[in-house]
Formats: sequence, structure tokens, C-alpha cells
Amino acid sequence: MYNAFMQHIVAVRETDEKETRIALTPAACAKLTKLGATVTLEQGFGDSLHYSDDTYREAGANVTSRDDALASADMLVSLRPPTADTLEKLKEGAGVVSFLDPFREHDLVKQLASKKLSAFAMELIPRSTYAQKMDALSSQASLAGYTAVIAAADKINKALPMMSTPAGTIAPARVFVIGVGVAGLQAIATAKRLGARVEAYDTRPSVAEQVASLGAKFATIDVGETGETSQGYAKALTEEQLAKQREQMAKYCANADIIVTTAQVFGRSAPRIVTADMVAGMKAGSVIVDLAASTGGNVEGTRADEDVLIDGVTIIGLANFPGKVAKDASQMYASNVANLLEHLWDKDAGALHLDLEDAITQSALLTHESTIRDERVRAAIEGS
Ligand code: NAD
Repeated sequence: MYNAFMQHIVAVRETDEKETRIALTPAACAKLTKLGATVTLEQGFGDSLHYSDDTYREAGANVTSRDDALASADMLVSLRPPTADTLEKLKEGAGVVSFLDPFREHDLVKQLASKKLSAFAMELIPRSTYAQKMDALSSQASLAGYTAVIAAADKINKALPMMSTPAGTIAPARVFVIGVGVAGLQAIATAKRLGARVEAYDTRPSVAEQVASLGAKFATIDVGETGETSQGYAKALTEEQLAKQREQMAKYCANADIIVTTAQVFGRSAPRIVTADMVAGMKAGSVIVDLAASTGGNVEGTRADEDVLIDGVTIIGLANFPGKVAKDASQMYASNVANLLEHLWDKDAGALHLDLEDAITQSALLTHESTIRDERVRAAIEGS
């Protein structure tokens, strides 16, 4: 057993002003206090979603200043990776649960280890059936796929459904989705609901069936042997394969009114799939939404958090699509976090218990007692 008295859970306001999502909703606080945990929040914690301090108090939480909350935390819960200043205020050996972006935030990982913090990275929760209820990558990606299509529909100068009217027939918009993971599937489903004609492509042929079941067409692009990891993630394509993919994909892009790109390779920068030439081949007025903008972008010309206009084609590179539906995104994230903490809760001890043999802890506990436990992250940091 590690730290038997680890039962004080704390959350403070997100420091990024653009972040409207929060890590704990009143419902999640109620769930944690019911377990037997004490929960303390910084004053004004739920302001961005209009949850008052009193609402949190009614859910069993205490409300205090940021510094007092941090100093007393056994377990800090956050959505965005906490800043160095925030971590500095925690006591040595405390726990952290948050998105930590461990493959890119090397200084943060080193700080977590040097302060002997036991940090769970929400990105490292296993993609298993049992852990689905804690899978924040999926919950946020699903909403990102939805909002990507809504953003494109808002920006484009044509309707998505086919309309037959006495004044003539409007053809349905053509939507091309690149990358059919959690976000891509939701983008397909949303575009279909809005009446668009949808095509989609992924390097994992196993998703063709899911694409068809949503009423969309799987694009046939031959790039030779592709693969997936034991977690179901795509393996990176070689440069030669990516070139083949771009060549065959150009015609799908040229026909599309809207392209949604969601292609990611776990732990790496996003693959560059849509080139400037492909953008130039699209109709003026078309829209591309690049959901991979924050990890480098799938589209040449994407800029994170900006809309870019190239020859009449708008590339939307908003980095935080789930933040557009912050209430639902927070509800899902808070529920993912509360489910993880419930999983770690030892009823007999009335405290959080870190069992290093537990499958979820083995996968998601990034740092513990000054060690960086994830081999891939350790290798990335040592190699940089
Ligand atoms: P992701 O965000 O890592 O990537 C998005 C998609 O991009 C993936 O489908 C990937 O195959 C695709 N991609 C990568 N390179 C590409 C390229 N060059 N061209 C086109 N597409 C490319 O994926 P994700 O949404 O996090 O899902 C990863 C896997 O995990 C999927 O197999 C998913 O079904 C699985 N999953 C399982 C569970 C569960 O069982 N509990 C939960 C969630 C996800």
C-alpha cells in the first residue's frame, strides 16, 4: 500500500484562459465525496460553465484559495497539463490525474518525476473494454468529431443535405473524412445526419466495415502493407507509403466540399497527408477542418488555433474542438476522472490505493517515486 491517507482530492482553475472545460463537475464531486474522499476546489472553479461555488458545496466539496487547495492536495485533478508553478505548490509524493501530453511536455514529465509525484496521464489509459469508462481520449475525440462537422457546416457557403425544391435541386455536400478512429467515426455520423454524401479513409482496413455501417463509402487507396499496434493504434506509414497515399487521395480531395482530417499516430507528430497541391486542387469555397492541428496538422498550411484561407479554401485549425461544447465535454471528462479515482479507491482503507500490478495503473501511471515509468516516454525524453 502506498500513502494510505491519500484521500484529499483537489482541483484548481485551468490556467489557460481559452480553456472553458473543467475537470470536475458537481456530479463528479458528489460521486467522490460519496466514496469517502474529501474534495476541495479553488474559488470560482466552475465559473466558465456557470457552476457556482455554492453548487459545489452542495455536492460536498470545500471551496478555498488556489494556494491553500494546492498545498493540501493528496491528488490533484486537472484537464490541461498543470503548469510548473502549479506543480511546485504540491507536496512531494502527491498524486496527479490529468492530460499530460507526455510525448511533447518533456519538462513537465521531468518535474513530475523530480517532485516524486504519482502522475496518471489520461492519454495512457488503456483502450480496453474495461477501461472505456475512463477513456478521456475517446470521450473528447468523439465530441471533437461532432464539432468539426458543425464548424465546417457553419463556414461553408452551401447546404449539406440534398434539397429538391420548385426552384431546382441542390446536390448534397460531399464530405471526405481522413482517419476513422473515434473522432472520424463521429464526424462521419454527424455529416450523414446532416444529409451529406460521405467518403472516408483510414490506413487500418479493419474500419471499412464501420464506415459502411454508418452509410458512408470507404475510399480505396492502396498503400501496401499497413498495421496496427496491440492497442489498436495505426502504425506510422513510411514516407514512400505516405507519398502513394497522397497521390491516390488527390481526387477524393478535389471532389470534396468539406474535408475533416483526424489522422494521428500515437506518440508522434500527426502525418502530413493533404499537401498544398491537393488544397489548390479543391473548389474555392471548400472547407478543411484539421483536427490534428495541435500535433502538427494533417494539412499543409494548417495553423493551430487559426482559420487560414488559401485560394478560397478555408483550413480550420482550432486546437480545442471539444471546448466548443464545453459543458458536455466537461461532464464526460469529469466522469472519466471520477471513474478512474473510483477504480483506485480502496473501500477498506477509505483512501486511494496505488496497486502497481493493476493493469490500468501499469499503463497510465506515468511517474511514481521519481521514476518515469512509461518506457516510450522515457525513451523520447532521453533521445531529445
Ligand atoms: P487516433 O486518434 O490515434 O488516430 C485517428 C485515426 O487516424 C486512426 O483510426 C488511425 O488509424 C488513423 N490514421 C493514422 N495514420 C493515418 C494515415 N496516414 N491516413 C489515414 N488515417 C490514418 O485513434 P483513436 O481514435 O484514438 O483510436 C485508436 C484505436 O483505438 C482505434 O482502433 C479505436 O477503435 C480503438 N479504441 C478502442 C477502444 C476500446 O476498445 N475501449 C476505445 C477507443 C478507441
